[in-house]
Amino acid sequence: MKVHHTIESLQSNLQQHKHQGQTIAFVPTMGNLHQGHLDLVKKGQTLADKVVVSIYVNPLQFGANEDLATYPRTLDDDLAKLEALGASDIFVPTDSIMYPEGKEIHTKVSVPKLGDRHCGASRPQFFGGITTVVAKLFNIVQADVSIFGEKDFQQLAIIRKMVDDLCIPTKVVGNPIVREADGLAMSSRNSYLSPEERAIAPVLYQTLARMKEKILADGMDSTLEQKAIADLNSNGFTVDYLTLCNSKTLEPASKHDKALVILAAAMLGKTRLIDNLELSLSPTHQ
Ligand code: AMP
Repeated sequence: MKVHHTIESLQSNLQQHKHQGQTIAFVPTMGNLHQGHLDLVKKGQTLADKVVVSIYVNPLQFGANEDLATYPRTLDDDLAKLEALGASDIFVPTDSIMYPEGKEIHTKVSVPKLGDRHCGASRPQFFGGITTVVAKLFNIVQADVSIFGEKDFQQLAIIRKMVDDLCIPTKVVGNPIVREADGLAMSSRNSYLSPEERAIAPVLYQTLARMKEKILADGMDSTLEQKAIADLNSNGFTVDYLTLCNSKTLEPASKHDKALVILAAAMLGKTRLIDNLELSLSPTHQ
């Protein structure tokens, strides 16, 4: 495994792989790797000969009052995990590599509409920061396939749209959410939770799972979202949004939609948790 701190070093190594006819999978991350990230690497290994992982806490996607300074940075641990897994090239750039003239005057990439709702409504800088850095990373790595977690469901939809719209030559593959035994979706931010908050945190998933079961049993009901929000708030969460959506457009579900996703974000103390659950209704469901 090689660790690259410059674009030139990474690209010259990738050129060698490509000259040998080897295919490349790419997994972008912000580090503090857990099993959710490692599953993306394993997925990449089934799809390509070499897996490139980037580790970069991208300042462009953090708001002024968010956790950029405190975001967990555990590079040595991360590299040990990736080495054990057999990842081939790790790209660890600095801000001056990614934004040499400063992030404010860097070219920006943004996907309209899909990024306006949900996380985009409460974090206005978030998706523009992600699409800008991911577009740049795509151009640097030029991977055959790029793997993203379905944990960040809206992000995945936005990346797919960006890749389609800009004809970026990489195939985007989504990978299922990896959860703790009690259902909490794994996240680097879970380490912010106090023991009391950690005990409550799985209620987010449990609430989504209950709502999904009710919809599958009884069909859509406009009161379900409000009930789920009230349940979460009474358990100590402050819900940002919890919405049943069309899983392609991410617009609020209409009664004709069959492919659905419940998207949710909620604060637990100072920690923002997101989760989602897909469901498909049969043609007979009302
Ligand atoms: P992050 O480091 O949080 O930016 O995430 C990097 C990638 O890992 C993204 O594609 C995420 O969607 C994915 N990811 C993070 N947590 C999980 C999880 N629990 N299950 C599946 N994928 C995840």
